Amino acid sequence: MADHAVVIAGGGPTGMMLAAELTLAGTDVVIVERRASFQLESPRSRGLHSRTIEVLDQRGVVDRFLAEGKTMQVQAFAGVPMDISDFPTRHNYGMALLQSHFERIMAGWIEELGIPILRDREVTGFTQDDSGVDVALSDGTSVGAKFLIGCDGGRSVVRKAAGIDFAGWDPTTCWIIAEVEMEEVPEFGLRGGGGIGPAEEGRVGVTLIEPEPNRTDDPTLEDLRAALVRVDGTDYGAHSARFISRFTDMTRQAVAYRSGRVLVAGDAAHVHAPMGGQGLNIGVQDAVNLGWKLAQVVSGTSPVSLLDTYQAERHPVGARVLRNTMAQRALGATDARSVALRDTVIELLRMDEPRKHIAAMIAGLDVAYDLGEGHPLLGRRMPDMDLATADGTVRVFSLLHDAKPVLLNLGDAGGLDIAPWADRVQLVDASYAGTWELPVLGEVGAPTAVLVRPDGHVAWVGDGTDAGLREALTTWFGNEVL
Ligand SMILES: Cc1cc2nc3c(=O)[nH]c(=O)nc-3n(C[C@H](O)[C@H](O)[C@H](O)COP(=O)(O)OP(=O)(O)OC[C@H]3O[C@@H](n4cnc5c(N)ncnc54)[C@H](O)[C@@H]3O)c2cc1C
Repeated sequence: MADHAVVIAGGGPTGMMLAAELTLAGTDVVIVERRASFQLESPRSRGLHSRTIEVLDQRGVVDRFLAEGKTMQVQAFAGVPMDISDFPTRHNYGMALLQSHFERIMAGWIEELGIPILRDREVTGFTQDDSGVDVALSDGTSVGAKFLIGCDGGRSVVRKAAGIDFAGWDPTTCWIIAEVEMEEVPEFGLRGGGGIGPAEEGRVGVTLIEPEPNRTDDPTLEDLRAALVRVDGTDYGAHSARFISRFTDMTRQAVAYRSGRVLVAGDAAHVHAPMGGQGLNIGVQDAVNLGWKLAQVVSGTSPVSLLDTYQAERHPVGARVLRNTMAQRALGATDARSVALRDTVIELLRMDEPRKHIAAMIAGLDVAYDLGEGHPLLGRRMPDMDLATADGTVRVFSLLHDAKPVLLNLGDAGGLDIAPWADRVQLVDASYAGTWELPVLGEVGAPTAVLVRPDGHVAWVGDGTDAGLREALTTWFGNEVL
């Protein structure tokens, strides 16, 4: 089989986003996917959070998702809804969009980008040395690559074969989840540690706690009927299941995101209870953090040590999600003391500052990579402002459509010179008269220049001089070329 620069194991949300990012950066990539089509084996994510919507906007594809999803206030902590319509972002909402539709739209995009997918086969293992990785596939063939990325979900074969420890906590609770037809329509609403509600095409969606947290057998229609009888005393004549699956609150994170030429992202790097609906979102954002860095390492623009920043930046984000989902599980307990604690948290979340703090975390808008001391923008997401340029009004996000870094010069036109990086970094002279506002932090001082990485995070902030700019350009985008 032909070699590729990068092999991605797993064509779920993370794998597809990573493949798109690499392709936009000019890297030759192939996806190996176990499923024969993008159809899902079970219902999973029900939507997207604000930062994921922003990330899709940065690539110019958000309209495809907005056209099929329904924008709404989806943020919740331990079931307590939180409104973000006052947040300083163009997308001050979430989006209801089932994962099956998200994956279908993503699959359409990566097909347009010409990304090959080897479907109906699995990555079964690999060997690696200083020059590359030899990836073994379930059809008996193998494919060579410079890097292998495990985007192969929570049970990641790649992570296990790389010997990366998946540290954390065993499940305490197991849920059965299904979409079925029913003879009798039940009352929709929360119960049994989950709930019953309408699903697509007249089916009924059921999510209920099962008594045993560590079941490993495949769930059956009988298991679902038994769960319904436990909570409602009847199975409503459930039949013709479209999906039946289980999930748990197992909470684990890869202790390392890289082992030599092998990296992990998405659920392969972190699993947790689905409370708050964050898993798909942070997987997509892992991919956007890793893609451009890996592309630069593959092309020789940057040293392999740039990949260490992927773990340094994304591991803490994953750890925070593990922590907040564990907290949400604890707040969901029904004993009197837990209920009292939850009531106290609800009181706090009605106050402005706590709401902003927690809602920004769930929405992914508060991520601040530790790039050292400096202006509050440093390491945070660049706001999508309308800039005045010689070509008219330009949105910041539109400058990121090609996944290329951009230096915005907001001072005197022609005041910054980045000629040695001109082949990699766009320089845009612009002005912006409005205020600078960040989620949670509020208004911040206006910078005179901003260096924005392809993932939309700010790598350097100008204060009237170019002090530190060369170092930042070298750190993030490689040595100068004269
Ligand atoms: C009930 C439930 C509700 C959820 N709700 C939400 C929500 O509302 N919001 C949210 O953000 N997240 C939610 N999640 C989490 C979300 O579904 C996952 O975080 C997301 O699917 C992770 O994407 P991924 O691409 O990293 O992994 P996966 O989606 O697991 O994709 C991995 C892919 O790799 C393939 N694969 C596996 N092994 C191999 C192999 N060896 N070789 C080749 N291919 C392989 C699989 O077929 C799959 O396509 C929910 C999860 C569950 C279970």
